[in-house]
Amino acid sequence: MSLQGNCHCGAVTITLDFQPVSITECNCSVCRRYGARWVHGTRSNVRVEAQPDALQFYCWGDKFIEFYHCRHCGCLTHYESTEKTEESRISLNTRMCDPTTVSDLRVRLFDGADTWEFLD
Ligand SMILES: [Zn+2]
Repeated sequence: MSLQGNCHCGAVTITLDFQPVSITECNCSVCRRYGARWVHGTRSNVRVEAQPDALQFYCWGDKFIEFYHCRHCGCLTHYESTEKTEESRISLNTRMCDPTTVSDLRVRLFDGADTWEFLD
């Protein structure tokens, strides 16, 4: 099984090579504004395909994470660790997925604003 998401205009597609068991909703200052819901993978099991120049990212603070959005339609598609190894993180924003493909996944609330622990 795998999971796929794409931006509204179709310029960016993210594909997971695995079937996730849960979705993470984070309340940190960035995620709460984006309204994103994440599934975490790595560079070895998440594939990013984008038309040339479609991707832009936002990087702030300690600059550990790049939040990517489509230049054309504005959708926030994924984030990546600034470190680029096989095991470094890429997370898909599951808001880009067909809702029927993620409706069975448990949503876990992560307290990224404060304790860095799950609230359930
Ligand atoms: Zn787009």
